[in-house]
Amino acid sequence: MNHILENLQPSASVALMARAKEMQKADPTVIGLAGGEPDFDTPERITRAAIDSLLAGNTHYTDSAGIPELRAAIAEKLRADNGIDADASRVLVTPGGKYAIYLTVNALLNPGEEALILDPSWVSYGPIVRAAHGVDVHVKLQAAEAYRITREALEAAVTDRTRLLILNYPNNPTGRILHTDEAEAVEAFLLAHPQVWLLSDEVYETIVYGEKSLSMGARPAVADRVVTVNGFSKCAAMTGWRLGYLHAPEPAFRLIARLYSHSMSCASGFLQAGAAEAFSCREEMERMRRVYARRRDLFIVAMNAIPGVRAEYPEGAFYAWVFFDLPGMDSQAVSRYLMERARVVGMPGSAYGEEGCALRFSFANAAEDMAEAARRIREAILALN
Ligand code: GLU
Repeated sequence: MNHILENLQPSASVALMARAKEMQKADPTVIGLAGGEPDFDTPERITRAAIDSLLAGNTHYTDSAGIPELRAAIAEKLRADNGIDADASRVLVTPGGKYAIYLTVNALLNPGEEALILDPSWVSYGPIVRAAHGVDVHVKLQAAEAYRITREALEAAVTDRTRLLILNYPNNPTGRILHTDEAEAVEAFLLAHPQVWLLSDEVYETIVYGEKSLSMGARPAVADRVVTVNGFSKCAAMTGWRLGYLHAPEPAFRLIARLYSHSMSCASGFLQAGAAEAFSCREEMERMRRVYARRRDLFIVAMNAIPGVRAEYPEGAFYAWVFFDLPGMDSQAVSRYLMERARVVGMPGSAYGEEGCALRFSFANAAEDMAEAARRIREAILALN
C-alpha cells in the first residue's frame, strides 16, 4: 500500500459536506455551511448548450487539452479579464480546478522537492503536494496583519529544494484578495529564486466585493513561471459539472498535457460545449455576486453582534472567517458544539492550518438560512456564558 496515501486524511470540506447531508436526513432543520458550493442553478444558456451538444451526438473523445472553441474562449477571457498574455495552445481544460492543481503540482515537483503554501490554506493543497511525493512547507500568515504576504515570510521558508509557491486569491478561507504590495513582494521573491514556479488558483475571481484581486500571470517579469488555474464551479454555479482549466507556459504545459493524456484523456465534450457559453453569462454572474454581497453583510453584522465573536468583511469568495473567543475551546470543539447545539455545520479553522479559534461558514446559501444560522449560533454562544 502507498504509505503517503495511508497517512493522508480525506478532504475535510468534502467530508463535512457529506456529514451535513447525512445529518439533514434525520433532521431537516440542520443548516450546512461547511462546503463551498453555490446554491444557484447553472445559467440556463449553459445547460441548454450542453444538452443540445449531447443530443447532437457529441459523445466521443475530444482533443485531450479540450475543444478548440472553449480553449479559445478561455484564452480570450484570460487576456481580457486578467491581463495574461494567454494563448489557446497553452490552455488545458480539466474535470474541476482541483485536477488542474493536481496536474500542475505533479508536473513541477520531483520527489522531495518543496512547495510553499500560505496558511490559512484550502484543505487540499498540502495533500496534493504530498501525494506527488513533494514536501508541503507552510508559511503562516498572521490574522493580526490581515494575512498580508511579505517578502520576509517567503524568504524565511525558501530552501534550495523549493520549486513551487501556491497562491489562492480571492482566498479560501480568509476572503482576502491579492493587493499590489503583495503582488510586488511575490514578484521580487520569484525574481530572486529563478527555480521557483508559481501556481495561482483564482477560482473565486468573479466573487469580489470591492476591487478585483490581482493575477500574477499578468506580470511580464515572472509570467513565464506562472500557472494560472481557474474554473466554472464558483463563477457560474457549475460545481457538479466538474470543469476547470489552467494556462501554463512551456515547459510546464508540455508535461502537464502529457500527464493529462495518460490520466484523464479529456473532459466530457458535451459539458465543454456548455461551458463555452459561460463567458457570455456575465449578467448572471453579476447577479449572483450581488446576492452573495447581501448575504455577506447580513452574516458578518450578525456575527460581530455576538459577544466574544468577531469577523472581518471578506474582500472576496463566499466565506465568513469567524473568530470565537471561548475559553478552553479550540476550533474543532466550537465546530462540534455548534453542530450539536445549533444544528449549524461550519468548517473548523484548524483544517486550514489556522492556530486561532476560527470557523469558516459558507454564505453561498439562502439568506433565510444564513439569518437562521446566525440566530442559532448566537443562542448557542450565549448559552455558554
Ligand atoms: N472548494 C470548496 C470548499 O472549500 C469545495 C470542497 C473542496 O473542494 O474542498 O469548500
